[in-house]
Amino acid sequence: MITKKEWKKALGEGKSDYTAQVLAIEKNIGSFLEFDPGKGKKTAAAFKANYIADDSATAGTSLEGLPFAVKDNIAVKGFSLTCGSKILKNFTSPYSATAVEKLMNAGAVPVGKTNMDEFGMGSSTDDSALGRTNNPWDENRVVGGSSGGSAAAVAAGLAAFSLGSDTGGSVRQPAAFCGVYGLKPTYGVVSRYGLVAYASSLEVVGALSRDINILKEVFEVMRGKDILDNTSVAHPADKNNGESEKLAPLEEGAAIGVLSGNLGLAPAIAESYAASTRALMDLGYKVHEVELPTLEWVVPAYYTIATAEASANLARFNGIKYGLRVSGADNPDDLVRDSRHEGFGPEVKLRILLGTYVLRSGFQDRYYIKSQKIRTAIREDFKKVFDSASAIMMPVFPTQAFPHGEAGLDPFQQKVADKFTSAANLAALPAMSVPTMNIDGLPTGIQFMAPTFREDRLFTLAEKFKDVFPVTTAPVSLKEGGVK
Ligand code: GLN
Repeated sequence: MITKKEWKKALGEGKSDYTAQVLAIEKNIGSFLEFDPGKGKKTAAAFKANYIADDSATAGTSLEGLPFAVKDNIAVKGFSLTCGSKILKNFTSPYSATAVEKLMNAGAVPVGKTNMDEFGMGSSTDDSALGRTNNPWDENRVVGGSSGGSAAAVAAGLAAFSLGSDTGGSVRQPAAFCGVYGLKPTYGVVSRYGLVAYASSLEVVGALSRDINILKEVFEVMRGKDILDNTSVAHPADKNNGESEKLAPLEEGAAIGVLSGNLGLAPAIAESYAASTRALMDLGYKVHEVELPTLEWVVPAYYTIATAEASANLARFNGIKYGLRVSGADNPDDLVRDSRHEGFGPEVKLRILLGTYVLRSGFQDRYYIKSQKIRTAIREDFKKVFDSASAIMMPVFPTQAFPHGEAGLDPFQQKVADKFTSAANLAALPAMSVPTMNIDGLPTGIQFMAPTFREDRLFTLAEKFKDVFPVTTAPVSLKEGGVK
């Protein structure tokens, strides 16, 4: 593991060849759409100079000098903000997201923007219109998605941590594919100001890292109510939340529910899931099997709600306000239609059509309202489970990282496989993907979920698991002591 001290050296004046080392690895991986630590340093310094810092939230954290990578749907002033789409290909952000500002305030430095499935729609990052990202464990395989570039960047040791967005699993699934930690916080706990919206009621800014301690500090720095995002909420443990509560730590021997039933897992995932269940027992937790009867309806509900919201959120990309505009259109209608046709890729078009369809007048009852009912039902399922368990363990995704192209999963198979992750988004719960064992040269991981605001339990479990399943280094990676 690259230490904090080494990371700080990466951005040190003059003597570091961090940029050259990253660019050498990037030839094989392609995690970044833009990489410019020099610009990042200037952006962070300019921000700090003009900001009247409220340091109470960051007191006790030490992200000073750590390089971080940011998914290209989260705004960093002066950097690209493409969402992996042709429609925003040349767009530069005029401002930074609240989460990014908070991290810069704590001393971290944004070094670049990472590749992603277009507008966050996908599970491989192969649905980016702007480039391909390869898995640092096996370049013939995908990194997962949609925050695939952010997962690859930390797995390849190119940044100390990275930011992603998680609407239906987009932080956790690529984290599992790349063997790193991925946190999806409770809905609303991290401001979405500066995150380009895909499905607003489901998504949240999350973070990835190979180092669980860094991830924890990042979360503590990022969270908090933000006047610029009405859906944001104060976290009970916020240091600058007037009524800051001390959350009772997860007890030794606490009850953990393990999702059971026919989960449809690939053999390697089943093996790692069984080993993780044994690990929980060996660590002294009281393990019992749990079921979530609504789980089988989660994917249809997720795709109904997500596409409905996407159809509204993406209406702003019309070739008029910003982004790609075709030339030669005869009238405004043609201009909008042709610009959207030219700018959006096939998966985005499919989802806009689907979302428009489910919202058609007279159809809401059949799809959208029904999906909201499923959303309530899955929330109730979780509530029941949490009556007798402090946290739940379940898989992240049914397979390990799959190959690029035809040999991999088709778009439909990818969607069906979202059931374990998107459940947490429908229920607004915090969830974390935790790396476990490597099988056949590829990482596997498991997922913990906890009640609202109980990210602390996820961190405790992840820390315990670290002793059983140490985090390993991908073959294509900056190694320990490697940041020269
Ligand atoms: N696979 C999910 C989707 O394609 C992931 C979405 C996300 O979390 N951004 O919608």
